[in-house]
Amino acid sequence: MKTADAAGTSRPEFAIPARIPSFIHGQAALCEAGYDIPVINPATEETISHLREADAAQVDAAVRSARDAFEHGPWPRMDVDQRKDVLYGIRDILRANSAELGYLETMNTGLTLANIERHIERMAKNFEFFAEVISTVSGETYTQDSRYLTYVTRQPKGVGAMIAPWNAPLALASMRVVTCIAFGNTCVLKPSEYTPLSIYRMVELMHEAGLPPGVVNLVNGRGAVTGTSLVSHPEIDMVGFTGGTETGKAIMSAAGKALKPAILELGGKSANIIFASADLERALDGALTGIFANNGQQCLAGSRILVQKTIAEEFMQRFAERARNIRVGDPFDSATEIGPLCYRGHMERVLSYAEIARADGARVLVGGERAPGFDRGLYVLPTAVHAPSNRSRVAQEEIFGPFATFLSFDTTDEAISIANDSNFGLVAYVWSDDLPTVMRCSRDIRAGTVWVNTPMMRELRAPFGGFKESGIGRDGMNDSLHFFTEAKTTTIPLTDIPVGSFGRG
Ligand code: NDP
Repeated sequence: MKTADAAGTSRPEFAIPARIPSFIHGQAALCEAGYDIPVINPATEETISHLREADAAQVDAAVRSARDAFEHGPWPRMDVDQRKDVLYGIRDILRANSAELGYLETMNTGLTLANIERHIERMAKNFEFFAEVISTVSGETYTQDSRYLTYVTRQPKGVGAMIAPWNAPLALASMRVVTCIAFGNTCVLKPSEYTPLSIYRMVELMHEAGLPPGVVNLVNGRGAVTGTSLVSHPEIDMVGFTGGTETGKAIMSAAGKALKPAILELGGKSANIIFASADLERALDGALTGIFANNGQQCLAGSRILVQKTIAEEFMQRFAERARNIRVGDPFDSATEIGPLCYRGHMERVLSYAEIARADGARVLVGGERAPGFDRGLYVLPTAVHAPSNRSRVAQEEIFGPFATFLSFDTTDEAISIANDSNFGLVAYVWSDDLPTVMRCSRDIRAGTVWVNTPMMRELRAPFGGFKESGIGRDGMNDSLHFFTEAKTTTIPLTDIPVGSFGRG
């Protein structure tokens, strides 16, 4: 590990509000008798603000505002070109304020500023992309029965409860919000209690760009209080959730009780398969990026690295050498590659897996402890272990930190079978220059996305989501349209056809 020195640090300074309220019907809304939750900077563990939790009454006010904007406001009724202009305006204002948003996000998440700059561009692109999607939506017509014209239009579904996690707040919350509102819906957004800073500013800026009040309301607070009040509110029509699998199950059952549809983007334990037929330099870079990007806290991490036995020992050694060389440090320092983890409980959970791995008979190749040289902050060494089997807990459970689990295999069949032996199925990575091997993996691996010889290329037009416990539904051009709109079929007779003769005698 190298500690990034202060020389590369160019920390911008922006004001951090002392208290983060909710944002309802176009303005800040502070719950009067609310509970305050400290907001910390994981690089120092200092409290940098407080979040005032929204209680059930405030959640109710937020949902009513969204309902009113849906039933009576301009948003669902405006021409798509007008709505598109507002979304482009949001893109522009977010880009124009990227330095402030980047500062707030880095202060609150511990993700490196360089990484956050990419998230901010992703956030802006999310608004741009869905503005383009809505301008291309078309309906269906059916004239096969020559007596009738039947056409299908799509209409917004109503009010969405949108819930986002802490690991990439701006990029993921913006995706939840825009997939919902672009089609004319309104929503209430609940970000993670750990990372409210940047999201509050994002919502404020969206209103400065001309978003009508009530289209996006923000409620801040804990999942168990604010989140449950939101999901179970009777005026919610659909739920969009990005977060952990266990929370996803609770949300799905709450939504199911009220027959509300839910889209769930959940966790992963994705296989990153390195065949001997791969370009091993690229595969090594890809394996490191796949697990250590975003401080290791990403749903799509390649956290189970499967290496063909003939190259396994050397590959693991080279991986460990590179991991040892990763610069852990101040997330504002441009030289830093991995910053602190998001909050103390999470760091302790990640570190506990080093003990679990040892107890399971795994070999620790590198790391497995807090990073030395810091008198404060939630810094962890990049870690890799070689597990004795895919049944080990470190091969089955999502750790969600800079923690790679290596396994080895002999044949393509075995690699695919290990990859599929998981409750998750979000993504898979395949490294090989042998076409039949690649094609077999692409066909037989049960995951929502297969990346071949490349890490993490997110094509917004294509569906993204998981098989099995990695989720229900997909984000993407067509999938979001289908989830966030209702299809309406209208049939009109083209001739004077009889409609029955009840009561004519
Ligand atoms: P959690 O599931 O703990 O929380 C996600 C969100 O749900 C937070 O806002 C949380 O609030 C809220 N929440 C918690 N309990 C409830 C409840 N009962 N009702 C309503 N809302 C609730 O996930 P994390 O924030 O820890 O995020 C990490 C997880 O997210 C990982 O498993 C990761 O894989 C997954 N993820 C999936 C992605 C995908 O696209 N598939 C992308 C990114 C992350 P609070 O935090 O305030 O408790």
